[in-house]
Amino acid sequence: MSASTGLALDATLPCGTDVADLLDDVIENRPTSPHAQRCLDCQTVTRTLGGRWRTVRAAARAPVPEPAGLRARLVAALHADGTGDPLRVDGERGTLLLGPRVVTQLARRAARQVTVVRPGAVRYTEGRLSIEVAVRYGADIDAAAAAVRDRIARELADQLGIAAPGVDISVTDVFVAGGA
Ligand SMILES: [Zn+2]
Repeated sequence: MSASTGLALDATLPCGTDVADLLDDVIENRPTSPHAQRCLDCQTVTRTLGGRWRTVRAAARAPVPEPAGLRARLVAALHADGTGDPLRVDGERGTLLLGPRVVTQLARRAARQVTVVRPGAVRYTEGRLSIEVAVRYGADIDAAAAAVRDRIARELADQLGIAAPGVDISVTDVFVAGGA
């Protein structure tokens, strides 16, 4: 484990809430769950994540990287192998700890926007995204995969200002429209 004071994005809080789920709420800019609205642990983590997320987006949107190299380090952090400690990105308003979880969360969120697809496992290692999806019965699988790729590219560009990494899409299941 890292000796830094960073918050691990793959941690589970004592109350049982996954930090990744709170991050998802922050990224989606949606209200936290009824539990999180009552839980002090969840509120503290949500505030911390919210501040970091604003810093990531501000860094990604800066027309000129300031301080020099910030964008390069941000991209390096986002492309880091998931097996190491989170990488530090020093910005004007604080230090970010970024790991593959940010990329996988954004990819899952993007894939959910494709109506004929339901995302399953998402992994991000060694600069490549792999995503498992279920495709609606009767849908064109090639078109569905292309739509997922397109959405992921747009999401990473919009949220972080970076190009999408290589994306491997595996169709592992089929679902019936309207089914659970
Ligand atoms: Zn909680």
